[in-house]
Amino acid sequence: MSTTTPSSVLETEHREIVAAFTAFVRRELVPLAAELPEDGGLPPAELRRYVRRRSAKLGFYAGDHPEELGGSGMPLRAVVMLHHAAGRSGCPLAPYALAGSDGPSPLLRRGTEQQIERYLKPLVRGEATRCLALTEPNAGSDAFHLTTTARRDADGGGWVLSGRKTFVSNAGHADFVIVVARAVDGDGKDLGPTAFVTGMDAPRLRIGQRYEGMSGEELYELVLDEVRLPADAAVGGESGVGAALGNGFDSLSRGRLVVAAMCNGIAEYALELGVAYARERKAFGERIGAYQHVQEHLVSSRAEVEAAKLLTLACARLVDGGVEAPENAALAKLTSSETAVRVVDRALQVHGATGWVRGHPLEFLYRYVRMMTIIEGTSEIQKVIVARAMGLG
Ligand SMILES: Cc1cc2nc3c(=O)[nH]c(=O)nc-3n(C[C@H](O)[C@H](O)[C@H](O)COP(=O)(O)OP(=O)(O)OC[C@H]3O[C@@H](n4cnc5c(N)ncnc54)[C@H](O)[C@@H]3O)c2cc1C
Repeated sequence: MSTTTPSSVLETEHREIVAAFTAFVRRELVPLAAELPEDGGLPPAELRRYVRRRSAKLGFYAGDHPEELGGSGMPLRAVVMLHHAAGRSGCPLAPYALAGSDGPSPLLRRGTEQQIERYLKPLVRGEATRCLALTEPNAGSDAFHLTTTARRDADGGGWVLSGRKTFVSNAGHADFVIVVARAVDGDGKDLGPTAFVTGMDAPRLRIGQRYEGMSGEELYELVLDEVRLPADAAVGGESGVGAALGNGFDSLSRGRLVVAAMCNGIAEYALELGVAYARERKAFGERIGAYQHVQEHLVSSRAEVEAAKLLTLACARLVDGGVEAPENAALAKLTSSETAVRVVDRALQVHGATGWVRGHPLEFLYRYVRMMTIIEGTSEIQKVIVARAMGLG
């Protein structure tokens, strides 16, 4: 399929990084992925760890982090193109070669020096993973409607965390957790949403229910049963108390743009499969690609994918240039995730029963891509952000 990919509008240097990453995926990850079960699902933790560390060694994982933190100092637009390449490769191990929701968190960039050393640097090097415990049974999209509390000890010497968190990715394998809780002073005064960081081995912190997603993802419930943390456990120290809303959660652009890019790559891969099949498969004596109803699936998909790719890259460029308007990333994430769900669906339709059979890449992608309109804020929440920026509501 001939396409004008956004890589052609990247600087030569970044095109080379994307080409090197693609070569790494083909050379090292595709052979490893061939050993995985046919129905997709979460690769074993040991294999994910190997992929993460190898990719960090080659400078791809967490590449946008500065060199003094262990990253490669890439601009966001290059990172976005790496995520695109991972999705487009069709290799189920490729997403684990790039830092995602279990990697370095923008929250920790605002951590104390000690937190940066202890938590952020091992994350950037791919040596550790973390999880984020924000969602609660009654606080999903309305994430800061928190009932989990962090009570300041009577003597002011630490915090006691109590509550339940749900749908926490990677909690079963993470080295440490960032918990967002409502901080409460000794006299009961509400200090506001605060992020705390601690090892997963903190006493009285336990994993409750395990949830399995449509394509094998593992999410967990976390139970905080009077978990005692030291005074300096708030991310950013004392200045981070009550500041979770402004402290990292206001800069969700990176997370949303890398999800958008992964979606665009997946959509492009699905489209390639659809086009290749439509050129070969015959029905009623003709290749099915000659039928306008089939062309409609593929041409509409092409138009939508190209638009989503360029929007995502344009937003990343704006962030690199210091313009970080939340509605830009919301627009890119909304457009790319909804497009990917539609394009994978259409590509499967073009394949008929062949694409629906377990073991076919589209059968797995159909299940895998569905989470993309929910994670990093649902499509409806992206629309709320854009509507607000348009002066509505
Ligand atoms: C694969 C996966 C991984 C996840 N990982 C994590 C994780 O690591 N840590 C974590 O804390 N959470 C995680 N989550 C949870 C995720 O953040 C929430 O599912 C998400 O925020 C939506 O919340 P909810 O599921 O409670 O839906 P709800 O908030 O209950 O929403 C239900 C529906 O109502 C809509 N809706 C809600 N409010 C509005 C509104 N104001 N206007 C219009 N529509 C609205 C939503 O868009 C949705 O369609 C994960 C979820 C998934 C699927």
